[in-house]
Amino acid sequence: MNVLLIGPPGSGKGTQGDRLAERLDLEHLAAGDLLRAEVEQETPLGKRVKDMMQRGDLVPDAVIIGLLMPRVLAAADANGYLLDGFPRSVEQAVEARKLAETAGATPDAVIYLDAPRDVLMRRILARAEVEGRSDDNEETVQNRLRVFDDATSPLVDYYRDRGLLHVVNADQDENAVTEEILKALGVS
Ligand code: AMP
Repeated sequence: MNVLLIGPPGSGKGTQGDRLAERLDLEHLAAGDLLRAEVEQETPLGKRVKDMMQRGDLVPDAVIIGLLMPRVLAAADANGYLLDGFPRSVEQAVEARKLAETAGATPDAVIYLDAPRDVLMRRILARAEVEGRSDDNEETVQNRLRVFDDATSPLVDYYRDRGLLHVVNADQDENAVTEEILKALGVS
């Protein structure tokens, strides 16, 4: 099974991605984690995207597609993927579909983690204290939420139109969210 997790910053994509990947034996591919690893290792790609990530802007489509799609295709060829944080725009979704279609690697289901703005803000600022992510400060978070509204939220209609979308209430405790997702996927 191939699953996409989309949602605004703070909606729990990383946490739910870990849990679902383990429960369903899927490869968890987290776009932000892969990019952060490149920044940490100071690779040419990492150096190119560092400031964009720091501002909360999207990195160029070619960069994220080049980084992720080989892993997506390999995972689909094995037991399937649980992809979080990609695509983040309709343009990325269209490009990824082109690359995945012939390989039979397109998503089977898309989970949209939905939560109110004040809950997202509260969670991110709490996470900042624990994880120390440099893009979890208030100014960058405002930009990330804006980027989500402008670029990413149109994906909700895009996947609804394709009959793939499941909206899940992310404003509940972690276990309840996981159960709701599993139910939406028809596996619990
Ligand atoms: P995340 O950990 O998913 O919140 O992602 C952290 C940052 O990585 C984002 O604010 C973007 O700068 C970048 N990023 C992650 N996924 C993508 C993507 N699909 N397209 C472009 N930039 C991305």
